[in-house]
Amino acid sequence: MPKIPCYFHNEQLAFKPVYEWAMGQRIDHPETTARAENILATLSENPRFDVLSPTAQPIDAIRAVHSYELLTLYNTAQKLPTGDTFYPSVFPRDLRDMGDPTNIRHAGCYCFDSGTPLSARTYDAAAWSAACAWEAAGQLASSYSKGAEEELLVYALSRPPGHHATEQFFGGYSYLNNCALAARRLSETGRVAIVDIDFHHGNGTQSLFFDDPSVLTISIHGDPTDYFPFYCGFSHETGEGDGSGYNLNFPLPGKTDLDAYRRVLEDDVLGAVSNFGADILIVAAGLDGYHLDPIGDFNLETEDFGRIGESLASLNLPMLIVQEGGYYTPHLGRNAVALLEGLSR
Ligand SMILES: [Zn+2]
Repeated sequence: MPKIPCYFHNEQLAFKPVYEWAMGQRIDHPETTARAENILATLSENPRFDVLSPTAQPIDAIRAVHSYELLTLYNTAQKLPTGDTFYPSVFPRDLRDMGDPTNIRHAGCYCFDSGTPLSARTYDAAAWSAACAWEAAGQLASSYSKGAEEELLVYALSRPPGHHATEQFFGGYSYLNNCALAARRLSETGRVAIVDIDFHHGNGTQSLFFDDPSVLTISIHGDPTDYFPFYCGFSHETGEGDGSGYNLNFPLPGKTDLDAYRRVLEDDVLGAVSNFGADILIVAAGLDGYHLDPIGDFNLETEDFGRIGESLASLNLPMLIVQEGGYYTPHLGRNAVALLEGLSR
């Protein structure tokens, strides 16, 4: 059985958010380096996986997805003193155009929540996280173009996550939209569908492709009436302009278990991907639907991620798996492996 290539770069661990402001409370930051370390340790001790390091940050691809102002702000944050962390707390709805991205105090013009901090090491970690998705996409595209007969499955251990980042805004612990970068690269090879299984709606990915009929975006997530990001992810958001009909949201109630989850996945999502005529599937692989997750609220067990993987694998498409959320750190590695093993059957 061929090994599954997995991409990770040690510089992704240089950014260490310590706390966040959640609903006015200061809490330990869930998006820790231990998340990636737990997954990495579990992959490294399993002979099915081959851990590789990306070789370069995909600067041009990042510039093609994100605004000049947002990237300028990240550059400003790189000049913060070591150990300092900036938390946006002023979000001037009507004065965003007045934002100066060379002034870190204007970060709220380029951000949508108060839980996603900036430090001198944030951008570098996010750019290497994006590099994992970018190089994994390149490897998948190359194998697909050569008509490789072996299983086409590649995993990007992207951390920090990316699916909440839009063209102009960071938030939801996301700075650069890793899946969007990968989708742009893979679109040069075939039709791409993104299925986001993170507990939270992939608002950033949705926004980046909302008017684009060339990439199908689907998100299955906790109902935004009750769960982050609260203001979008509803089923009536189906795209706009030429992209109308190419964005699908499946909000589910809290405590959803595998049976209900798979009904949506198999009755609605798989058919939509097939009808779209996808050549390649990107899975935005959040693991925060796990029943012990501190910020997700589904009732999925470790083996359930394997069953979800099997359902997605029934599409029989080349697949790029991009790590998104998942915050019950002690079981993240085994949940990621369960998903990947399910996908590889
Ligand atoms: Zn999430």
